[in-house]
Amino acid sequence: MNLQEKELLALQALDTELGQLATELQGLDRGERVERALAQRKAKQQAAEKRLANLESEQRASELELKALEEKKHHESRRLYEGRITATRELQALQMEIGSLDRQRQRLDDQILRRMEEIATTRATVAATTEASQEAERALKVMRRRYDRESTRIQGLIAAKQPERDSIASRVTPDVLRRYEEIRRRNHNIAAVRIQNGACGGCRMKVGSNVYRRMQTQDSYVFCESCSRYLFLPEEDAT
Ligand SMILES: [Zn+2]
Repeated sequence: MNLQEKELLALQALDTELGQLATELQGLDRGERVERALAQRKAKQQAAEKRLANLESEQRASELELKALEEKKHHESRRLYEGRITATRELQALQMEIGSLDRQRQRLDDQILRRMEEIATTRATVAATTEASQEAERALKVMRRRYDRESTRIQGLIAAKQPERDSIASRVTPDVLRRYEEIRRRNHNIAAVRIQNGACGGCRMKVGSNVYRRMQTQDSYVFCESCSRYLFLPEEDAT
């Protein structure tokens, strides 16, 4: 028998292992989910920071306005108590002006107080969202380190197996190898199987007795009638 059963099955065993490693590599968590969470948390943090900056700037403006109002009131009060204005109508007008300034100041005071509370709340939000962002950053770092470590390990295993795979493949007749590769591409990485419990080891279809006979008597490759993979006798029957 010049069938390359041993080589093809050894090649298949290696390709199966390499395929599993490739799947494992592909399935590694690169941290995309944590990356998305981080982006969302960063956006919330930035929104809170922006809101805080706006509130603080509004507060500074209100405080300046308050100061100006107080100066104006001080000025008008001095005019009132200096006693230079004696006309009743003018005095009344001045008192009304001072009253109006008082009310404006009261409104501004209230506004400043309310905003102080808002600023305190927003500062707490900034602190909480910053903490949440940092937590996601730390988690992402851990995941990336784990991914790097795992992918390096798997790539190392793949690289270590490749020379053996190349060496076996180089011993297989080119036509046979070409067909093997073609079947493997089409059939989920499996191209050469033994019969197991009377069925194809690839697709589990029962192997007919005529196929069995052909395998035992002929000196040529037999392919599964259902999945067209290279078919070999069970280990105990193999010669
Ligand atoms: Zn089959």
